[in-house]
Amino acid sequence: MIYYLGLGANLGERERTLRRAIEGIKKIPAVKLLRVSSFYETEPWGVENQPNFINAAIKISSELAPLALLGELQKIELKLGRIRREHWGARTIDIDILFIEGQKISSERLTVPHKFLFDRDFALVPLKEIFPKFDCKFHGDKISRVKGSPIDFNFKLVACADKNFGLGYKNNLLFKIPADLKNFRALTLNHTIIFGRKTLETFPNQQPLDGRRNIVLSRTLKNLSGAEIVGSVEELFDKISPAEENFVIGGAQIFNELIPYAAEIFLTVVNAESQADVFFPSVKEFTLQAAQIFDGFEFRRYSR
Ligand code: ATP
Ligand code: MG
Ligand code: MG
Repeated sequence: MIYYLGLGANLGERERTLRRAIEGIKKIPAVKLLRVSSFYETEPWGVENQPNFINAAIKISSELAPLALLGELQKIELKLGRIRREHWGARTIDIDILFIEGQKISSERLTVPHKFLFDRDFALVPLKEIFPKFDCKFHGDKISRVKGSPIDFNFKLVACADKNFGLGYKNNLLFKIPADLKNFRALTLNHTIIFGRKTLETFPNQQPLDGRRNIVLSRTLKNLSGAEIVGSVEELFDKISPAEENFVIGGAQIFNELIPYAAEIFLTVVNAESQADVFFPSVKEFTLQAAQIFDGFEFRRYSR
């Protein structure tokens, strides 16, 4: 099932809380995060003498039934410090189910589409950003896009795969094509590269790559000279800046973690079918922008 969720926060470090909530939702078993909107600053609605909100929307797919998902979302609200005082009052985080593709629900515990969805620009504007075909009218409320969404970190995924999107086999890359390696170096030089421990092990002498800021996303690695190590995606957000170009270079697990936040994908597709045990994730949420075709492989660029 495809769900669209709305998130809002107006107490504490609002953007940080929203990013943590999105990461929390991403980690629910049987949930796949597909898309994240920008963050919007909005004025309170319903109860007016309280701080402004930051709002966002996300798209997920999940096998969980709606009430089971609602239960998981409420656990995340509690973990992030939500205290229910006055209805529509100030809160560290609110996560609502806005819309479910092909399903309507009307019960005491859950109403979908959300009861007030069509009255609230703060929910409609981010929803429309990630669901352009959604049919609704805005009401002209004051809303401004602010920085801080995971998509503002400008992640660019770079990989080389076979026709079936296979990336590697038994901890080795499938291909080492000189033209591709040259392209990779030109793309990433003087920028930030983000990768996992297994990818580090494929580098020459298992050392960081020269001329780039190296960040390893690993829960086990403790230190490595010439590189910074972060233990989680939340920690990564605290380290990098949206002004940099942040290239995510593998492996499969790191691509899976960061593809929902990616702005662009640079994929070299080799015209071969190889035995593989790790794959590049689905690019269904992206649009192919350009393809340069060479003998035996092509460079593809996708964006949102
Ligand atoms: P509003 O529902 O107007 O956005 P709120 O989000 O502040 O207000 P909460 O305190 O978060 O309200 O939730 C109150 C109850 O609303 C929840 O316990 C839940 O059972 C119910 N509810 C009904 N429909 C939904 C929905 N679509 N998404 C989330 N909660 C819902
Ligand atoms: Mg709400
Ligand atoms: Mg709610």
